[in-house]
Amino acid sequence: MKYKRILLKLSGEALMGQQQYGIDAERLMQYASEIKTAAATGVQVAVVIGGGNIYRGVQAEAFGLDRVQGDYMGMLATVINSMALQSALEKLDVSTRLLSGLTIQRVCEPYIRRRAVRHLEKGRVVIFGAGIGSPYFTTDSAASLRAIEIEADVVLKGTRVDGIYTADPEKNPTAEKFYNITFDEVIEKNLNVMDMTAFTLCKENNLPIIVFDMNTAGNLERLLNGESLGTLVSMGGENDSPRHSRKLLDPKHSALQPLINNQPEQA
Ligand code: UDP
Repeated sequence: MKYKRILLKLSGEALMGQQQYGIDAERLMQYASEIKTAAATGVQVAVVIGGGNIYRGVQAEAFGLDRVQGDYMGMLATVINSMALQSALEKLDVSTRLLSGLTIQRVCEPYIRRRAVRHLEKGRVVIFGAGIGSPYFTTDSAASLRAIEIEADVVLKGTRVDGIYTADPEKNPTAEKFYNITFDEVIEKNLNVMDMTAFTLCKENNLPIIVFDMNTAGNLERLLNGESLGTLVSMGGENDSPRHSRKLLDPKHSALQPLINNQPEQA
């Protein structure tokens, strides 16, 4: 296997599917089934899911409410999504544990790093709820931090777009996709991958991020099998471990030449 342990970040918004709010049952089951397939390959899977389909802290401020209170509401929203995902996984006979950054002892275990690692070693899918448990952070920050703590090999950021582009591909049809990009180039080009806190954590800890399209069935498994999907963000060059370096797939993207790693793909 390419990876031993991964952290999969899913946005809450993606859970809405075609709806305007809440959880789309079909999308939820699709995610659960993708995660089941991933776990069945033997890779250890940890998941962080956002809460944007239910509540975001910044919404509270817009209503004139207290931001910190809003952030805690957002964290609770992530617990709701995490519980839904846990149930969906259990329906598919996947063994799971939900560990929360906020203590809600009737429904989830408190987050304890050693416990999380032990669950993973036992082959359970570990879901981290309630972000990092502190306001003014996001679930992207939680994904980066937890991934570093559990020594995951990579953060897989599942989105509805198949990677990082020069501009928003949904708005700008001329936007070009990056296949490989370094942390420094993301900052220099002001690309929107994660919020800066989350991104800096990954950069400082040399934790690669792969942004990929989670809504296409089978993509997660393809990634785990070593296919070069989406966009890989890493240190680049010799700073990457061989596990993470990969070549640019599409030579048409000549504007991206500096990013091309011409090494032949490892079998
Ligand atoms: N949140 C927080 N601390 C955390 C994680 C989340 O305060 O560690 C709050 C924050 O208000 C955020 C909301 O929970 O807006 C939902 O998470 P996020 O926006 O990251 O969800 P996503 O955009 O991935 O759906």
